Amino acid sequence: MSDIFSFNGARNAGWSQPEPILSDPEVLGTIPSSMLRASPPAWPRASEPELVRHYTWLSRRNFGIDTGFYPLGSCTMKHNPRVNERIVNLPGIDRMHPLQPEHQIQGILSIFYEMQEMLAICSGMDQVTLQPVAGAQGEFTAMRCIQEFHRERGEGHRNKVIVPDSAHGTNPASASMCGYEIIEIPSGEDGRIDLDALQSVVGDDTAAMMITNPSTLGVFEPDIASASEIVHSAGGQMYYDGANFNAIIGKTDPGLMGFDAVHYNLHKTFSQPHGGGGPGSGPIGVKKHLSKYLPSPLASRRKIIESDPEGVGDGYWYSWISPENTIGKVQQWHGNAGAVVRCWAFYRRYGRELERMSEHAVLNANYLRFKIMNPEKDVLSKIHAMPTDGAPTDFVMHEFTLSMIGMKDKVGVTGKDIAKRLLDYGVMAPTLYFPMIVPECLMIEPTETESKEVLDKFAADFLNVLSEDPELIKGAPYTTDVSRVDEVWAARNLILRHPGNNSDVN
Ligand SMILES: *Cc1c(COP(=O)(O)O)cnc(C)c1O
Repeated sequence: MSDIFSFNGARNAGWSQPEPILSDPEVLGTIPSSMLRASPPAWPRASEPELVRHYTWLSRRNFGIDTGFYPLGSCTMKHNPRVNERIVNLPGIDRMHPLQPEHQIQGILSIFYEMQEMLAICSGMDQVTLQPVAGAQGEFTAMRCIQEFHRERGEGHRNKVIVPDSAHGTNPASASMCGYEIIEIPSGEDGRIDLDALQSVVGDDTAAMMITNPSTLGVFEPDIASASEIVHSAGGQMYYDGANFNAIIGKTDPGLMGFDAVHYNLHKTFSQPHGGGGPGSGPIGVKKHLSKYLPSPLASRRKIIESDPEGVGDGYWYSWISPENTIGKVQQWHGNAGAVVRCWAFYRRYGRELERMSEHAVLNANYLRFKIMNPEKDVLSKIHAMPTDGAPTDFVMHEFTLSMIGMKDKVGVTGKDIAKRLLDYGVMAPTLYFPMIVPECLMIEPTETESKEVLDKFAADFLNVLSEDPELIKGAPYTTDVSRVDEVWAARNLILRHPGNNSDVN
């Protein structure tokens, strides 16, 4: 199979296009000459079968949840049920336009409304917007709402946001995009919040604290209500990073823990092809005092008593936040509508049993951790289960971290080497070197959609890798299309343009 960019000759193209608009001199005159190409773009010209083969070939060079176990901690790569795709492709959903009159789009508006309500209920919040399209964008949106809240109360001087050292990198990044200064607090030995450290940094300049629970170490923080109280009594707001929502749905909620604002990574918690191309969805939920700052429109449910012009009574409608209050839009309409519909389909499939999802996610993580950490396997000298060293009876939530520092010290095999070697066993590498407080960290999240057989096989493969020749491990992977890449080079020398497309236009 050859690269599609080499299909550049006089072959038949698998597409047809109308005559270029530029053949009309009147149109041509309206475009500044600096923006005109000197020559046509050198697009690949492939027939339909060639095109299909190209993309199929490309997809098989990659690793995906559809080709193998994908225990990528924090990112929650669960199976994407195919029923989601059937539903999102229904013409009554797929062919809608947001500017159609509301009475024509009742179906999709009801889905948006239900999703908002369901997320609000699960998280103990009062109002949800579906607009942000990633967790990171949700963080930014919510932090802007918090900022407006402080400003309106005459407390715009609050300029510091507190994050624990185990936080995901997007937390400090989103806060600093709002202009906040980041205060990092260290975790205790056991990976939990150090309340004294928190108390010592809060003050009348505290805008908010951003934290996820369970933490990125997979540990539930039982002192979270006390942390909320410390931040609130200093006048700050509590922000919940909902990337780990998969562990707690139906069992507890961020509202009960004292949070004021939350983001949900719908693409993680409720399935949706994501990572390396799939669109995400990062709705946010807020308590009442923050809801007037949200982006709009929101989907709402209204009963029209008077006869209304469209002749529709009870139904679903857009509602708009007053322009003086809203922080403005972060995306159009309801963000990635398709991702929202897929996630809605996923949660409707569980219905009232949604908490089973969290139960099984937590059960799978603990089972896998126990299989790997069981002292009979004699691996404790090579790896550590962080944050506590190795005791297999310790309870984790939906994910866990392992430190490969023992292996590195003994035989020079790093966490990265182990991760690369796992690719040869047909499984995706776990998350590497995150959270940064665990040396040589591997972070494993099996999710609830994997069977016991898959977990047993992974545990066996993992333990097998640990007993392999260190030199073999250091050279892995051997079975993938591409072996080790120079990530720094790749990041510094990004090639984003079609190679044949070196025209005069930038
Ligand atoms: C994934 C993740 C985020 C960011 O979410 P995106 O949807 O990738 O932008 C934030 N925090 C944690 C803990 C995460 O795992």
